[in-house]
Amino acid sequence: MNKINMVTPLVEMDGDEMTRILWKMIKEELIVPFINLKTEYYDLGLEYRNETNDQVTIDAAYATMKYGVAVKCATITPNAARMDEYELKEMWKSPNGTIRAILDGTVFRSPIVVKGIEPCVKNWIKPITIARHAYGDVYKNSEIRVPGPGKAELVFTDENGTVTRETIQQFKGAGVLQGMHNTDESIESFARACFNYAIDSKQDLWFATKDTISKKYDHRFKDIFQEIFEKEYTAKFEELNIEYFYTLIDDAVARVMKAEGGFIWACKNYDGDVMSDMVSSAFGSLAMMTSVLVSPSGVFEYEAAHGTVQRHYYQHLKGKETSTNSVATIFAWTGALRKRGELDQNLELVEYANRMDKATLKTIEEGYMTKDLALITSIKNATVLNSENFILKVKEMYLKLS
Ligand code: NAP
Ligand code: MG
Repeated sequence: MNKINMVTPLVEMDGDEMTRILWKMIKEELIVPFINLKTEYYDLGLEYRNETNDQVTIDAAYATMKYGVAVKCATITPNAARMDEYELKEMWKSPNGTIRAILDGTVFRSPIVVKGIEPCVKNWIKPITIARHAYGDVYKNSEIRVPGPGKAELVFTDENGTVTRETIQQFKGAGVLQGMHNTDESIESFARACFNYAIDSKQDLWFATKDTISKKYDHRFKDIFQEIFEKEYTAKFEELNIEYFYTLIDDAVARVMKAEGGFIWACKNYDGDVMSDMVSSAFGSLAMMTSVLVSPSGVFEYEAAHGTVQRHYYQHLKGKETSTNSVATIFAWTGALRKRGELDQNLELVEYANRMDKATLKTIEEGYMTKDLALITSIKNATVLNSENFILKVKEMYLKLS
């Protein structure tokens, strides 16, 4: 078999723990035998991040900007326990946060839908992709515990010293107070990332806020989306026969429950936090969620939505066999390779990605899966495979499909 050549390298970001083990297996068994793989490799494993004072994460983000497509393994976000475990110089920031800040991107999370793993909402036959605005609102707020009677005001002083003042509440007793903000710039870049991703994935885009109650704050989100849509995206949406649809958040929630899926749901920060957990758990498994970071300028970084599966890694270190699901990590690789293929007009690479996805799904549909899926599948007498054997089974299926 002739191996497929690549034109432009992918930015490859290696990671930590069990997913680092899967990463190596996927490359060795599912990619390198079929592709003359060209990557620019960045080791985002915690040890090397610590050694380079996290410079490697920054370099990887800039490389992504340069080349346009990256694939990332799950990485540890250090906490106090990790400080001791890895003898860290500092509690390094979340790599995803660092990369997102540099690329100014929005994260789109979608479930991998496969026969045999049915969502609890039975009419969800296609994936629902959640786009979360990851800036501001309650996540960057100021709060005061009001001790007793008094007047709460919202005050803004502009650069010339002009003051705008609003009474929030005349407190008669104790209470609580919260101030939050967002910026036009951040909302605009979120809107563009959403419109671009809708075009890229040829899906409708839904957006919802509570603008009837929040007549200035949420209304600003609605207006920015509408203005950008009309100015920059209407023609393209018409051409692709896709729709941009705005509604109230409560209406959106009700409609989502009755919908069949196959659309992107853009959410404000808090809504996205909550709704992405609801959607992913309803679709069955965290191990079946993919995630892609899209920048407003059209740069893509693919990864699995789950973490490094630490508990399995400790089993693995003890020499015990694990049955860790590699599907979302395989899809991160195929997503990135497909996008690279599209940008380079490398049809063979696109076909490889499509076939590998199909082989992965068909493996599960024929009853071969890891333990997490075996626990929830509707397929009778499913065969539980260990981490390595699942990947080998996918390879066997890929060869059958070729
Ligand atoms: P996790 O790695 O997602 O795992 C949580 C649990 O979910 C696992 O213990 C496992 O359950 C199940 N699970 C998740 N992925 C699975 C898979 N592929 N196959 C089978 N089961 C799977 O989350 P965590 O344990 O909270 O976090 C571990 C580390 O990952 C942390 O250091 C965190 O900072 C990092 N993290 C990274 C990212 C990222 O890079 N994008 C995202 C989230 C978390 P059982 O143990 O019951 O089998
Ligand atoms: Mg959450």
